[in-house]
Amino acid sequence: LAKQSHSSHQTIVKLSQTVAFGGEELVIIGGPCAVESLEQMETVAQKLSAASVQALRGGVYKPRTSPYAFQGMGEEGLEVLAKVRSRYNIPVITEVMSISQIEVVAAHADMLQIGSRNMQNFDLLKALGQAGKPILLKRGLAATIEEFVMAAEYILSHGNPDVVLCERGIRSFDNYTRNVLDLAAVAALKQITHLPVIVDPSHAVGKRELVAPMAKAAIACGADGLIIECHPEPEKSVSDARQALSLEDMVNLVDSLKPIAAAI
Ligand code: PEP
Ligand code: MN
Repeated sequence: LAKQSHSSHQTIVKLSQTVAFGGEELVIIGGPCAVESLEQMETVAQKLSAASVQALRGGVYKPRTSPYAFQGMGEEGLEVLAKVRSRYNIPVITEVMSISQIEVVAAHADMLQIGSRNMQNFDLLKALGQAGKPILLKRGLAATIEEFVMAAEYILSHGNPDVVLCERGIRSFDNYTRNVLDLAAVAALKQITHLPVIVDPSHAVGKRELVAPMAKAAIACGADGLIIECHPEPEKSVSDARQALSLEDMVNLVDSLKPIAAAI
């Protein structure tokens, strides 16, 4: 299903009445790694919605490397997302880590993110078939392109046609950047599937000063959108502080991307 009629057909995944992945418009998703407070998300929503960022991100269930690190605000964080969603009339995207979280997240968010660490959690993928919301599927830390496409296949074959693929960098030998952004995978995925493909330069590079060039390169090689981490006080981010852009830098980046998207 994921590979079907890729040459003649592009799937459009609707996020809201006005925002869709895979169409003419580049979709930019911005927001912090983690939802930390209502005040934080209000500030983010206000700045980004004025800058034509089409959707907000923010994790409330966080897959942290250490069990002692902040694990996310949980349902309280979902309430925060629901509030800014309706106040600013902007769709929100947040991660689901387990089958038991699907129902409550689907009730509060417009799109469910499946993180890299769960890309091959096959029971979770099967359950997403009935989630009733579009899915943002992130590439596994060391997943091949074939494994990535087959993970999407699990969701599609279980009844949910609305899957957007996200390249977010893969593990390699050099840790100067957090991961290696595989832009060839973006071009390849655009050729072998009909699903929209977006890029997460933030988790790919892990350093804020490298986010903008990779965002630009992603558009040039055909990405349908970007998901970028930003924070009102980047250094104070409870997670992924080193890669968070300030809101000012995010707004400037979005402005600089428009002419590139228009030229492609
Ligand atoms: C995230 O988007 O905050 C995240 C945890 O991403 P990934 O699953 O790609 O590491
Ligand atoms: Mn993050």
